[in-house]
Amino acid sequence: MPHSHHSHSGQFCKHAKGLLEDVVLEAIRQGFEVYGLTEHVPRYRTDDLYPDEAGLTLDDLAAQFESFLDEAHRLKAKYASEITLLVGLETEYITDLDLEHLDALLARHGTRIEYIVGSVHHVNGIPIDFDLPTFHKALRSCSSEGDTSSSTQEAFLRAYLDAQYALLQRFRPEIIGHFDLCRLYDPALAIPAYSAAWKKVERNVSYAVECGALFEVNAAAFRKGWEMAYPGKDVAELILKHGGRFALSDDSHGPHAVGLNYPRLHEYLRNLGVQEVWYLQRSDVPNAAGRMARLRELHLEFDSGFCVYPLSKCITYVRRRYSLPVFGVSHPLPLELTVQDLPPVPARLKDPAQCFSSSSMI
Ligand SMILES: [Zn+2]
Ligand SMILES: [Zn+2]
Repeated sequence: MPHSHHSHSGQFCKHAKGLLEDVVLEAIRQGFEVYGLTEHVPRYRTDDLYPDEAGLTLDDLAAQFESFLDEAHRLKAKYASEITLLVGLETEYITDLDLEHLDALLARHGTRIEYIVGSVHHVNGIPIDFDLPTFHKALRSCSSEGDTSSSTQEAFLRAYLDAQYALLQRFRPEIIGHFDLCRLYDPALAIPAYSAAWKKVERNVSYAVECGALFEVNAAAFRKGWEMAYPGKDVAELILKHGGRFALSDDSHGPHAVGLNYPRLHEYLRNLGVQEVWYLQRSDVPNAAGRMARLRELHLEFDSGFCVYPLSKCITYVRRRYSLPVFGVSHPLPLELTVQDLPPVPARLKDPAQCFSSSSMI
C-alpha cells in the first residue's frame, strides 16, 4: 500500500503539470507500491480541443499519446525494482467516434495497454468538468421545451449515465473512473431524488459489478472542493450494497498532486465502513476484456496497524522500516511531515524488546 490507478502529467496532457518521470519519482518517494499511468486518449474532432491546446492538431494529440505509451513503458522497466507501474489510459466518450477510435487504438497496441479507466467527461458532446459556464451549457443542452429545472437536471443525469453504460458495455473497463463526475459542480446533488436517473445508477453499478470492474475512490474530488471523494456517499453505499469493489486513485495531474488528500480518502473509506480495497496487477494471461491486468485484494484493517496513507506518512510504515513491532492503531503522521523529515530512530529502539517499554517511540 498504497496504490493509485489513475494519473496524468504535463508532458502528455496540457492541463496537467510536470514530467511523467517526476510523477513516478514522487510516487516512489511517497512509498506507493502500485501506480497507474493513464493518460487521456486523443480526441478526434478539432472542436473537442481545449483552449489550452490551441495550436495543436489532431495528429499532434495522437502522436502525444503514442509518446506517452513509449515513455510509460520505459519508466515501468527503469523503476521496476522500486515500484509497480501499470500502463493504461483514460477513456473519453464525446461522440461515437471516440469509441470507434478506442477500439482501433486498443487493437493496435495490444498488451501494451494493460488496463483502462472508463470515464465520461462530456454530455451531448460538451465538457462537464471544464468550467462552470461550459457545464451549464451541457446542462442546457438537455433541456426540452416545457422542461422544469428539475426535469432538465434529470435528463442531464440520464444522458451522462447512458453514455457511461455504453462505455462499460463496449470496453469493460477494469477501473470505473470518477463514477459521479456528473455532479462535480453540484456535489450536494442527491441523485436518488431523481428516480429515473437513480435507476440508471443502479443499472450501471450492477453491470460493472458483474464485469468485475473496480470502482475507483478518487481523491481528486477533494481538491475540487468536495467534502468527499468520487463517488459520493449515496453512490458509494449503493456500490457496497451490490458487492462492488473499490480501488484507490489520486487522479494526479502532476507530481504536486501525487497522493494528495489520501488521508481524507482514508477517513472517507473508514466512515463508509469499507473493509477491503482492491488493486490491479499485471497478469501473464489476458482478462475477459483481453487486457493484461488482474485483481488483487487487500483487506483493510483500519484498527490493526493498516492504513491507506502513502507509506511515507504512515507510522506503521515507520515501524516496519525500522523493524519495530507493529501494533495498535495506525496513525497518520501530521500532514506536513513525511518519513524523510523524521530523525533517525535511535539504535536502542531497533531492539524489539525495547519498543514495548518505550513511550517515546514514533
Ligand atoms: Zn485530466
Ligand atoms: Zn477524468
